[in-house]
Amino acid sequence: NAKEQRGSLRFFSDDLTAAVHHRLQLEQRLRRALEQDEFCLYYQPQWSIDGSRMTGVEALIRWQDPEQGLVSPAEFIPVAEQSALISQIGSWVLRNACEQIAAWQARGIRVPRVAVNVSPQQLYLHHLPQEVANNLQQTRITPALLELELTEGALMSPGLEAVDMLNALRALGVSLAIDDFGTGYSSLAYLKRFPLNLLKIDKSFTDDLLASDEALAIVETIIMLGHKLGLSVLAEGVEVEAQRMELERLGCHQFQGYLKSKPLPAAELEALLLGDQC
Ligand code: C2E
Ligand code: CA
Ligand code: CA
Ligand code: CA
Repeated sequence: NAKEQRGSLRFFSDDLTAAVHHRLQLEQRLRRALEQDEFCLYYQPQWSIDGSRMTGVEALIRWQDPEQGLVSPAEFIPVAEQSALISQIGSWVLRNACEQIAAWQARGIRVPRVAVNVSPQQLYLHHLPQEVANNLQQTRITPALLELELTEGALMSPGLEAVDMLNALRALGVSLAIDDFGTGYSSLAYLKRFPLNLLKIDKSFTDDLLASDEALAIVETIIMLGHKLGLSVLAEGVEVEAQRMELERLGCHQFQGYLKSKPLPAAELEALLLGDQC
């Protein structure tokens, strides 16, 4: 009846108000976090499929909020992506990753390739190739040590001249990866046109690899596609040895996951690099 309907409408709008309020509050805290330098980068090692060699690391942002402690990027990146904040956070991540590489190089530490996550908005709000070029110039790092992780959805954005942008990035000498591969708009045609280096198989497929024939078929197909197109293939979220073994059997080149290492603060990664582990 009408009275009930009004009631549920009111609850609905209360929920909405609360959600909007939460988002605005988080945005405000994020803005302050940028000003007060509360972010840092952790680095998760990536390994050759047999686990013998560190092939790279992925830079993952962390927020040490003075009030709430460590906040997961899974919570704040989606909020940042709905506002202009993501381009500022993205710029911060890119600059800090390059500065970290430069610091390691200056100290003679053998630096692995460092992968940085790029949000869809960074691709078309910004002139990404120019920003990457500026960072390379200012830090004087070896461009091949920087890898950018893009998602399929971002590359499929209408109006984005993705091929031109990717060619410009590759011309700078940086490496390009497709993140969460297989979960986005799967238009395989673009793989042929885009100058990519690496396909990252999404964790959801790794999770189901041993239990589901469908996941196995998808992983097998992605690896075969990588082989045929001359791209390296990395599986994300490898947690148990049986997954790693299956991926090795299927011809996957690299993996990343808790099986061998969690994301580490820079100092802990350094210890690992200096400990002759790579
Ligand atoms: P992603 O890019 O898919 O990153 C992989 C996530 O899986 C990371 O979560 C990592 O800690 C986690 N992970 C790695 N190995 C394992 C494993 O074996 N088991 C499990 N259960 N998890 C594993 P994290 O660091 O919480 O990041 C979550 C997401 O937030 C990232 O997913 C990425 O989409 C986003 N993100 C993180 N840092 C940045 C950044 O600097 N910029 C942007 N735009 N997004 C970021
Ligand atoms: Ca990623
Ligand atoms: Ca991923
Ligand atoms: Ca993911």
